[in-house]
Amino acid sequence: MKLLNEVAERLLQNLVARKEDDWIEWIAQPNDWQDDCDKFNGCYFNAKQMPKHPQHENCQCRLEKIAKPIPNVTARATCDIRKFAGYVFSDKYDNGKKELFESWGYTIEDSEYLQQLYISQVLQKYCNGDYVFKGAGKRYGRVEIVIELPISNKKRQMIKTGWILLPKGEIKLSTPFSGFAN
Ligand SMILES: [Zn+2]
Repeated sequence: MKLLNEVAERLLQNLVARKEDDWIEWIAQPNDWQDDCDKFNGCYFNAKQMPKHPQHENCQCRLEKIAKPIPNVTARATCDIRKFAGYVFSDKYDNGKKELFESWGYTIEDSEYLQQLYISQVLQKYCNGDYVFKGAGKRYGRVEIVIELPISNKKRQMIKTGWILLPKGEIKLSTPFSGFAN
């Protein structure tokens, strides 16, 4: 029976026939189960970076094919300026981020510049499927996106940033720096 279920699951997946560059909207059925399905509801995923589907046995989630998202038309990125002004450059947190950004030539005065730079780069990358799906957090699906940050001496630093996925193509900054990228 288990084998039969697996075969059926695979057949169902093939029916959807996702191609690498396809985009899908995840449609969850509201339920009381302690699963991650609801967290993905309404979110847009590139077929090569998406949650496992089905998530579990009896998962009722559906995938609907959608057009590739277009920046600021069918996808949006938001980034609270406090992520920089009140976190990265805050003295309240002793996590080395302030020193790091300052070593790259940025101060709290650059918060708005960083906000705009993050938004434009990340939105473009997300819409190109250039992100890594990182599973589900407490309430939302999470993705990691690499940003190319101009730093002192006309150099560039590639850094990893963390975003949460909201319905209808919206991504929101959660972690302004989660590590170095190559
Ligand atoms: Zn499900």
